[in-house]
Parts: sequence; structure tokens; C-alpha cells
Amino acid sequence: MNHQKLISILRRVLSSPTAPFHEYHVRRAIHELLEPLPHVTLRSDAFGNLIATYSLGGSPARFCFGAHMDHPGFARSPRTGGWDFLGGMPPGYLNTGAPIEEFGEFAMWRLPAFAVEGTRVIGRACDDLIGCASIVCLFHELARLQVNATCHAVFTRAEEVGFIGAIRLAQSWPFDPAVCFVSLETSLPMSGMSLGGGPVIRVGDGQSVFNHVVTADLATVARESGISHHRALLDRGSCEATATQFYGIPSAGVSVLMGNYHNCGPNGRIEPEFVDLSDVKGMINLIIQLVIRSGGASISQANLAVRFEERIRNHALYEMTTASHFR
Ligand SMILES: [Zn+2]
Repeated sequence: MNHQKLISILRRVLSSPTAPFHEYHVRRAIHELLEPLPHVTLRSDAFGNLIATYSLGGSPARFCFGAHMDHPGFARSPRTGGWDFLGGMPPGYLNTGAPIEEFGEFAMWRLPAFAVEGTRVIGRACDDLIGCASIVCLFHELARLQVNATCHAVFTRAEEVGFIGAIRLAQSWPFDPAVCFVSLETSLPMSGMSLGGGPVIRVGDGQSVFNHVVTADLATVARESGISHHRALLDRGSCEATATQFYGIPSAGVSVLMGNYHNCGPNGRIEPEFVDLSDVKGMINLIIQLVIRSGGASISQANLAVRFEERIRNHALYEMTTASHFR
């Protein structure tokens, strides 16, 4: 997509402050970015997850892309009135005395909200506002290109305290049971991986192995569209696909590798997170191509069927001439 438009969407989403259960600023930003688009409808579920649907042409949806709107941070304790830190954080980092910035009922580390330096996108909450912004970009591109397809998206709440928004979503799944949930995340790199090599098609996370058909479709689309990517088990953390899959929803995941995970910088310092812009562009391009090319039926499985039958045909003479030994 257009570079300036991508940057302006990233800026709008990443500049919004957020914490677990306090996702209203991000939610408003996403709502305002999606509402003017043609063929897009928006609604909420009972928990406050924001649900968006793009539909042109009336074909059934195959995918629901998901990203979470929260980030580890401080929430006003309903019991004591002091600050509770919600989300995963190594204890050493919590006691550094790093300054915080208050936003009424919640607070974040006092860090620059958004910057682009060279190929790096730097943000206090790349996790998972990069995923949210990527879905917003997907919808903008589908609308601009007038793509004939239907696809859903869910922007969830309270992921950082244990996938609560995704659990609530899956427990009252508002779509056809065949619709696959594709989690878009930011992740710790595995050894040997570095930022800038493209998005990671996540065969699983620390708790689950994901749907093999959708994972194969993602890899096929990436390969055939010339999108640099990894295909790997990212098991240093878990994502919402583990929660949705547990409740029976076919689930898959794509991740952008990230530095300073959960604001944990080198030498015990609280720092902004960062990702590589080319990885973000790769992830957006991958999901656009997935909807365009594999929105109706699985292309990976169709390819496999052709190749398997071809192998049988190509070896039919050997099979025939050796059959007498196996009678
Ligand atoms: Zn996180």
C-alpha cells in the first residue's frame, strides 16, 4: 500500500494510549479509521471486542483476522485505588523506578508513542498495535482495490492478562464455524532469526500447533507472491490463536519480529519496542494476497491434490510392471 498512508495509519493507532481493560482510545482510533470505508461494517460484542466486516460481492468469508488492542501497563486497582501492573513483565523491570505517564484510570511507561527511524518503527506499544494497524491497512486496501471478497476482523481486549477478549470471542463465536481465526502479533525472535527478513508464518506457539491448511495457504501465498517470510514455530510466547483453537475455531498465526519485547530493553532498562517496517509491509501484503487469492478455497490443498495425482500417473508404468511381486 501507499507508504504515506501506511505511516499515517501506524501513527494514528500507535499514538493511542492503552492498557489491559483500558483499550477505548485504541478502539476509537480504529473505529474512526474504518468507519468511512465503503463495504465495511462495524459492531461490538458483549465484551467490547470491536468486530469489522468487509464485504463486496456476497461470497462467504473464510478468514477472521485478529489483533489485540491492549499492552502491558498500569491500571487503577478496583480494590486499593493504587496502580496494578497488568501483563507479563520480568520482576526486575518493574522496580527500576522508570517514569510512567497517566491517562486517567490507567498509565503506561513514559516513552515516545511513535517514531520511524530509517527502516525501524519505534513505539511504546508495538505489541499489538502493529497487528491492529495492519488489519486497518488490509481493510483500506480491500476497499481501494474493490476486492470481491468477504472478510472479518476482531480487535480484542485484555490479551495481556490471558487472552480474555479472544476467549470471550470464541465462546460466542459470531461467524460461521468454518471461518478461520488468523492472529496477527509481534513476537520475540527465535535464535537465528533477525528483524527485516519478513513476517513469520507461525506454525504454532508455546502451547499449540495451528491449523495446517491455513498455515499452508499462508506459505503458498507468500511464496507465489514473492513475499519474504519465515515459516516457524514461535514458542517463546503464546498468542490468541491458542485460545480460539481451544474453543474449536480453526486458527493460524502470523507474526512480526520485535525488539525490546514488553518494553524490556538491554541492561534492565524500560525502552520502546521496535519492529522493521519491511516486515510490517510484508505482513500486510501477505494478508491482502491471502484474502484475494485464497479467500474462496484452499489453494495449498488444491495444489497438493494436483501434485499427488500427477505422481501416481507418472509412476503408473512402474506400479504396473512390479505389481506381480505383490500379489
Ligand atoms: Zn504482549
